[in-house]
Amino acid sequence: MSATDRALEAAREVGFDVAGIAPCAPPPDAARFEAWLAAGHHAGMGYLAAERERILDPRRVLPAGRSIVLVGFAHSRPAFELAGGGRIARYAVGRDYHNVVGEKLLKLARILKREGWIRDRRRLVDAGPLLERSHAVRAGLGFASKAANVLHARFGPWFFLGALIVDAELAQADAPAPGSCGTCRACLDACPTAAIREPGVVDANLCLSYHTIESSDAMPHELRERAGPWAFGCDVCSEVCPWGRASPELSERFGTHRALDGTGLVELLSDIDAERWTGSPLQRPKREGRARNAAIALGNVPSERGRDALLDALASDPAPVVREAAAWALAHAHADDAGVRPALDAARTRESDPAARRGMDRTAASELERRPLP
Ligand code: SF4
Ligand code: SF4
Repeated sequence: MSATDRALEAAREVGFDVAGIAPCAPPPDAARFEAWLAAGHHAGMGYLAAERERILDPRRVLPAGRSIVLVGFAHSRPAFELAGGGRIARYAVGRDYHNVVGEKLLKLARILKREGWIRDRRRLVDAGPLLERSHAVRAGLGFASKAANVLHARFGPWFFLGALIVDAELAQADAPAPGSCGTCRACLDACPTAAIREPGVVDANLCLSYHTIESSDAMPHELRERAGPWAFGCDVCSEVCPWGRASPELSERFGTHRALDGTGLVELLSDIDAERWTGSPLQRPKREGRARNAAIALGNVPSERGRDALLDALASDPAPVVREAAAWALAHAHADDAGVRPALDAARTRESDPAARRGMDRTAASELERRPLP
């Protein structure tokens, strides 16, 4: 058996659904990535620009690297709705994929090392300096889509990628994966914020996944209504993709994180127990990010309980970004409810954080002053 055959076989043994090999060389999409950075589409993810050289040359990540084993682990499951309304991305319902895929990669690396196929390796799951999708396409795992992800013939967009850079010379796939978007443009048309600027180019400045997961800043006002019910991530471009429709139901792989039991937007906004999110992807935006997102979603999925929780957050949340989001949601959904306008005026007057105050001023101009008093 060759080292390549053994690497692919071992990937299946540890549970990956798909695997392929790419050379440890600059990714095919290097020029596109440079253009994406130059256009500022990476928004506040400055680390992508700072890590540009390593991202574009995986040999800088592992100097002894010769090949990259790309793996995929499917996670398709039904849409998940929070108690009382509001949505989070399907991938985030269960255990954190960084841990699950990372553990499998570790097992794979141990097997290959124990059997003497490799000596040195580096594993990366999403967060590392690697254009995983571009290498995955070269490795034959799927084809590059207009939504800037990799589509697999069976799983569509519903699979996680991982990579193991190894110091062994492995043979890469000699044929690209079949399939293409063809004339479809469902994701471009369905994206609520028009973040897919052109086929294959997602502008993070407009993308709800960026603003609800990666960014710790206030969400731009012009995106807030368009965010609809999304309180963490956004699946719209994946849900409309015809390639994902036949993907199997795999909920049991990641389960449902216990912190989501009975949790709705109100609980996300009011929750102060950060510990209970350990092991969940929702840990990433921290307490402030979760509460900020929940506040905005409560402006789009209004309820009486939501209004009361927003008033509490406006009055006493310690994070300016949460107070400011609560002000927007109250003005957007409850401006005519008794006591809301006085509460908003009082909050604006006492707000000491300059950015939050500017946000409240903008909300007053856009949401309140244009509407007559009831
Ligand atoms: S994740 Fe949502 S906002 Fe981002 S590109 Fe896809 S549909 Fe648009
Ligand atoms: S929705 Fe259509 S255009 Fe978008 S990624 Fe899927 S197949 Fe491609």
